[in-house]
Amino acid sequence: MKSSVSSRGLFLAALLLGVTSLNAFAVSESGSMLKVFTCADDEGIHFYVQNLTLANVTASFEMNMTNMQANANFPYTTTVAGNQTVEAFNLTPVDTNQVWTYTFVRTSSFGSADATPDDAFVYSLPYAPGSSFKVSQGYHGKFSHSGPDDYAIDWRMPVGTPVCAARGGLVVKSKDDDERSGSDRKYEKSANCILIQHADGTIGIYGHLKKGGNQVKVGDQVKTGDVIALSGNTGFSNGPHLHFSVFKMLDGKTRLSVPVKFRSADHGVVTLAQGIHYTAAPVEGQRDEGPNFASNLKMILSALP
Ligand SMILES: [Zn+2]
Repeated sequence: MKSSVSSRGLFLAALLLGVTSLNAFAVSESGSMLKVFTCADDEGIHFYVQNLTLANVTASFEMNMTNMQANANFPYTTTVAGNQTVEAFNLTPVDTNQVWTYTFVRTSSFGSADATPDDAFVYSLPYAPGSSFKVSQGYHGKFSHSGPDDYAIDWRMPVGTPVCAARGGLVVKSKDDDERSGSDRKYEKSANCILIQHADGTIGIYGHLKKGGNQVKVGDQVKTGDVIALSGNTGFSNGPHLHFSVFKMLDGKTRLSVPVKFRSADHGVVTLAQGIHYTAAPVEGQRDEGPNFASNLKMILSALP
């Protein structure tokens, strides 16, 4: 392109619609999470995505263009690391003497679409060593563990029980300001929760926490076993319990939970099953992860003969 897009093209309208997806735990906060801005030059209109949080955020764009072409396919999905800005794609008019327009819809969520879950990682039970709680709803549970919560676990637990980090990482969300609850999806947004981003890019959700009980704030680095909250009964819930799952994103609105194994004192390393009590094992001797633990370990292992 020889001529300037901004002077030759007739710009009509760019419509920005941030869409928040409906999930049991709000991982989508499109307004405050990302900033999308454009910059026009001889090569076209460059789209930049600025991540305003310290977590990985995944964004997807649906683009509707008239007399324009793009250097990317739509829907376009990108994961932007915390506090980073990336150039996502650019658009150029096909015929600069004709009117050109574009509109787009953007979705965004905490979590990485690039994450490769570390299948070898063994999680700790998220309560004090020596204590025992019954799994009231396991993987694929009929009450609410489907779709994005397919691989979630619920433990029946009295309100106020200390909740421990099942895996260390970076606290990227901490909400404990609500107390509403009920057996209806209309209460989903009222669930207090903590999100912890792990070294492999997955995020652990701890849900239905007690109002005012969170012990950590966004930006804290926690270790496996640290007390992070008090359990509760907030949100879409039919009784006091703790909900936990590990997820990655498929795109800006589709959350994908992943199956994980836990270390227990009485059943060894297991996939948890509904109706069974599991006693938490001591945390001593479990590995603590730095930010690059998983990738470093893979490098060390791949360098071995
Ligand atoms: Zn649950």
